[in-house]
Amino acid sequence: MNANRKILFIVALMLIGLAVATITNVALNFRDYGYNNAIEKSKMTAEIVRDGLTAHMVNGIMDKREFFLANIANIKDVQKLWIVRSENVVAQHGEGLENERPRDAIDRQVLKDGVAVRNISEDAQNAVLRVTIPYIATAYGNPNCLACHNAKEGDVLGAISMEFNINDIRQTGAMTIAKIFGINVIFIIIALWVTNHYFKPYMKLFENLQNGIKRARTGDFSFRFTTTLKDAGSEVADQMNTLFQKMEETFGGIKHNLNTFASRSNISSNDPLSTAGIIIQELSDVYKFKKTIEHDANKDAVYERFIYVLKEKFLFEHFALYEVDKNSKERKLIHITDHKSFCLPSVDKDANECRGYRTASDVYSTDFPNICANCAEDKEYSCIPFNINDDLSLILSYSAKDTETIERMNLALPSIRNYFEAAKAVIESRSLMDKLRDSSLRDGATGLYNRRFLEEFIDKSSEQAARSHITYAVLMIDIDYFKMVNDTYGHDAGDVVIKSLSEILVQSIRKADLPVRYGGEEFLVLLHNTTPEGALGVAEKIRTVFNDKKFQFGNDSIQKTLSIGIAHFPTQADSIWKVIKFADIALYEGKHTGRNRVIEFEDRMFSGGDQF
Ligand code: GH3
Ligand code: MG
Ligand code: MG
Repeated sequence: MNANRKILFIVALMLIGLAVATITNVALNFRDYGYNNAIEKSKMTAEIVRDGLTAHMVNGIMDKREFFLANIANIKDVQKLWIVRSENVVAQHGEGLENERPRDAIDRQVLKDGVAVRNISEDAQNAVLRVTIPYIATAYGNPNCLACHNAKEGDVLGAISMEFNINDIRQTGAMTIAKIFGINVIFIIIALWVTNHYFKPYMKLFENLQNGIKRARTGDFSFRFTTTLKDAGSEVADQMNTLFQKMEETFGGIKHNLNTFASRSNISSNDPLSTAGIIIQELSDVYKFKKTIEHDANKDAVYERFIYVLKEKFLFEHFALYEVDKNSKERKLIHITDHKSFCLPSVDKDANECRGYRTASDVYSTDFPNICANCAEDKEYSCIPFNINDDLSLILSYSAKDTETIERMNLALPSIRNYFEAAKAVIESRSLMDKLRDSSLRDGATGLYNRRFLEEFIDKSSEQAARSHITYAVLMIDIDYFKMVNDTYGHDAGDVVIKSLSEILVQSIRKADLPVRYGGEEFLVLLHNTTPEGALGVAEKIRTVFNDKKFQFGNDSIQKTLSIGIAHFPTQADSIWKVIKFADIALYEGKHTGRNRVIEFEDRMFSGGDQF
């Protein structure tokens, strides 16, 4: 119920209450008035009859009393009138007339008790007051009753009964009540109309204010207040409108400005204040993230932090982050949760197989079933490409068991992009640094690591190797009479031979082993955790495969040989550098003893003492 109706209801209730009270009071008063009036009339009539009968008696015309009584009975509203004699009087003066005998129990009771009885009998049509009044013998009246009646003081001599019609009074009362009721109804209607007329605009303004403030609480200040009131009412509405307009402009402005900094499509709130709060929080988080990754040493550390944000802030449970080399089209896995990839491994070799990468647009399984042919996921998934630069791109894939969860994750994408945008420049610069560093640590002709890398590697891994009981076999490899190739077929031919040897090395060893271009046509291989027999086997394999390799230079087909020296860490020396030296010594032992040989270092070969 609105406020206006409430007020009208209360006013109506009060007026109806007042009307009911008035009508009840009037009705009761009318009834009492009619009743008392009839009683008074009956008393008077009783006295008149008594005096009249006494006069008849005194004058000795008692036999004429019927005429007198008939006249009395014609008094207005007296319906019936009769008198009865007590047993004393009957005894003294006889039974009297036929109609002077007791007619009912009331007559008999009054004659017996000497107490007047009043009785009202009423129904819908009639209302009758029956009064029976006793005549009591007294010596103190005028004339003295005892002078004529053979009775004692206080004896009942007779009684008079009268029936009054009080219907008229009742009808008049009903009419009066009906009039009062009518007047009240008219008054109530007028009062309600006046109340409604004067209060309604205030109530409307009040409701208007209520609605506007309710909307303002949700951040919507677009509400405008209207009123038909003049003066104070319209002033309130005007001032509220000015206030709301200012709020709308200010908060709307804040929201708009913040939106230029942070995407907010995942913020469902229409409340500019809470939206501003959320955006500022997000900006602050992204800013902290950016500040932190700027001090990260390399790309992998930045990726680690990005993964942390996905897990801890966005609560991603199942996701994978890939890096795509745009030049080679190779895709490398950076991180995966549960070690369960839903993307087929063939995509690693050709990133164009990845729909997200190829189309440079987001892939949502909710858009179309089986949207990606290379996806082995039977649940919902999304794959989002993030472009870094011309060389590098990232792919974020995530999955969820149901549509609702994946859609919640998809909603986080605008925020995730903010983090990605913040990380983009850092990833790019770290990637460039990694590349530069990598190129300074690799040999351009063969792609193998160079001597500088080996130095860094040994510095870093020596301690760990000693601690974790890692063993290395060092192979020092040098092409026999290589100068001859250069001298005979030219430098380019020499390069071909060197490149070929590097390929044979890579193919002959495991992933954990490290091939290094140590010098001109000199290579070093670090074999990780291998036995002397295993190392010998690898060396022999390299030697024979290279020996079998035929090089075609002009019309000549030539074959070359290698000499290989082997030494072991830590069994032959406690430092890797010393072992490299020993392998070198073994190599030169091979050179001196006929070349095309694999020689294992022996202590006898070195007599230089501990000079490392
Ligand atoms: P030995 O059997 O004693 O090893 O005889 P060798 O002729 O191979 O002698 P050495 O190892 O001293 O010769 C190395 C030569 O390799 C000298 C240098 O001109 C040549 N060389 C070094 N780096 C390169 C390179 O990158 N390309 C070419 N074509 N030649 C290189
Ligand atoms: Mg050589
Ligand atoms: Mg050499």
